[in-house]
Amino acid sequence: MSLKVKDLSVYYCMRRGDCRAVEEVSFDIEKGDSVGLVGESGCGKSTVAFALLRMLPFPGQIVKGSIYFNGEDVAEYHEEEMREFRWKKMSMIFQGAMNALNPIIKIKDQITEAIMLHDPNATKKEALARARELFKMVGLDPGRVEHYPFEFSGGMKQRSMIVMALACNPEFVIADEPTTALDVTVQAQIMELLQLLTKELNITLLLITHDLSVVAETCKKVIIMYAGKIVESGTVIEIFTNPLHPYSQGLIASIPSIEKSHNQTLASIPGQPPNLLKPPLGCRFHPRCEYTQEICRTDDPPIEELKSGHRVACHLASGRIQSESYSRKV
Ligand code: SF4
Repeated sequence: MSLKVKDLSVYYCMRRGDCRAVEEVSFDIEKGDSVGLVGESGCGKSTVAFALLRMLPFPGQIVKGSIYFNGEDVAEYHEEEMREFRWKKMSMIFQGAMNALNPIIKIKDQITEAIMLHDPNATKKEALARARELFKMVGLDPGRVEHYPFEFSGGMKQRSMIVMALACNPEFVIADEPTTALDVTVQAQIMELLQLLTKELNITLLLITHDLSVVAETCKKVIIMYAGKIVESGTVIEIFTNPLHPYSQGLIASIPSIEKSHNQTLASIPGQPPNLLKPPLGCRFHPRCEYTQEICRTDDPPIEELKSGHRVACHLASGRIQSESYSRKV
């Protein structure tokens, strides 16, 4: 399995103008990778996921770029091929488990419907057996497939959503904020379960989250997005030990530490993300960056590989401009 995304741009085209939600995003994911896609709300993470599955909500559209999965351009698939692709090759654990299942249809019917839609040869009995097997795999009593979603707790619903995503044996799973709205102990259980399942079933994982600490525990690689663009990517170890983009540095500094005193003041990144209907010229992070210089206001920094596998989009990191305080930090 391989996924190659090249220069992907997605806009929400509205009367007020084009919201440039994702702009010229490129990344590669190889079989067995576990990659975290991180950034603040509204930075374009989920839009990337919906674009990969060609499930963009109206008025979103891919305006540029290509998505190659196992060497085939997903953008070229017609609807029938897309139906084959979704869930069988690439599936998604949706955000908000609480609302993603139909509360008045039994879980077994929702899962078996998905299995039978994608495998017309599967009988209802076989689909039900698969649903029960998956329930067992995610730590749920197989007999609970007979229940309705409203009878489930938040954690059980999220496990059921994982079952839905795994129902058709996909090679690649996108988990979009899979622990949102769950309490902390259940979050930890769900993340452990995801790690275990991806290893056992040899699934490649793209984990979308705003929480870098979750990525540190779950993934091998990380892609950091800001205002629709990738600003830094690399291995988790490289990004955590040597973040080069000021935004990544800010995100890492804002993770609470259990080693520091309990009354520590949490660091934050001043300012707000920009309006993507009219993103700032130059580097999109420049209105919030402590190192902004003239070139940052006019020239958009290209993303460059500064070390093997470590890519950064910043004039300072690539040496086009200098700053003593930045040099002391990296
Ligand atoms: Fe900051 Fe300039 Fe680097 Fe953007 S390009 S992150 S504004 S130093």
